[in-house]
Amino acid sequence: MLSIMKNRSVIIQENVASIQQRLHTAAQRAGRPSREITLVAVTKNVLLEDIRSALSAGVKTLGENRIQEAKPKFAQIGPTVGWHFLGHLQTNKARTAAAIFDMIQSIDSTRAAQALDQEAGRLDRQLDVLVEVNLSGEESKFGMSPQQLETLLPELRKNRNLRLRGLMTLAPMVADPSLARPFFRELAAWFRRFQASMGPAWDTLSMGMTNDFEVAIEEGATLVRIGTGIFHTPELRRSA
Ligand SMILES: *Cc1c(COP(=O)(O)O)cnc(C)c1O
Repeated sequence: MLSIMKNRSVIIQENVASIQQRLHTAAQRAGRPSREITLVAVTKNVLLEDIRSALSAGVKTLGENRIQEAKPKFAQIGPTVGWHFLGHLQTNKARTAAAIFDMIQSIDSTRAAQALDQEAGRLDRQLDVLVEVNLSGEESKFGMSPQQLETLLPELRKNRNLRLRGLMTLAPMVADPSLARPFFRELAAWFRRFQASMGPAWDTLSMGMTNDFEVAIEEGATLVRIGTGIFHTPELRRSA
């Protein structure tokens, strides 16, 4: 059978539309307005051309894991879209991070936060930050234990150039997304626990990736981070 290969750009645009549709449906199921949920397209190992295709499909925020990789992309795309950092931040990269990113989702130490605060101050910027929480205790993961939050949050708050917006987690990799639900539910409970003391800026609960974002939305996610479902689907592998 003769088949006409769709080009990558079309496939990526269809992927974005499909993720947005699923996001909307999951929000409806949870009785939540989908506009309160931000889609971050995770672009680690993704070429500039494919990123541009996602942007033309309506993606407004990009997530990157490595400063060195983000730098040339930022130079090309510029600050007209939102830039979120998702990786482990080394203090010697804080200056570049503060210059590129609007939000650092992965604060995992007071030291990293202080370095970032200093560099943000130098640039006269306010940076949004989330605290990364490691709920499963897996050693391969970065992040604070949730029990640390009580003492840590007031400490982090002293950084005047950082705006503490909420929490982020990576659920353990599981074949069945419903197995991630208890982790999302737990993070949402920790998030709510600090709502009163942190005030109205405390509004972001970042959880859910390609395999489990619908479950995360049902449990209260306000931001989902999608890489594979946009940039690494089987159709794209065939078209490469
Ligand atoms: C890669 C990555 C994602 C995206 O994961 P997918 O399963 O590809 O959607 C989300 N968050 C973080 C922190 C990541 O490193």
